[in-house]
Amino acid sequence: MRILIADDELINRQILQGMLKDYGDSDVVVNGREAIDAFTMAHEQKSPYSLICLDIMMPVMDGCETLLLIRELEKEMKIKKADRVKVIMITAVDRPKEILKSYTGECSAYMIKPINKKALIKQLKDIGLLEE
Ligand SMILES: [Mg+2]
Repeated sequence: MRILIADDELINRQILQGMLKDYGDSDVVVNGREAIDAFTMAHEQKSPYSLICLDIMMPVMDGCETLLLIRELEKEMKIKKADRVKVIMITAVDRPKEILKSYTGECSAYMIKPINKKALIKQLKDIGLLEE
């Protein structure tokens, strides 16, 4: 599967890329604006992402804004709800839990840093990207 990782910190991008390397090819970007560009380009290439890992706190465009824009673009492209890209929101602190709850209709899952590989793989299974 095709994976997109958006995080403004190099180390976080590297960690996620390492954890996901056995499950697909991942592209990495540093903010939400670039994530939108990559998302759009992948659709233009008829090779959309199956998974997007979105850091919440990013400059230029944050993860929440990016998520909503992705969903809007999918709506414009007439993509059915079941076929929307799976998005895992990633946050550094536990505090935004409440904020994230309001996004649960839009994102597939959320995780708190530091990301643990076992938990990440479990999430991928839970959202149907990996078989049990
Ligand atoms: Mg960040």
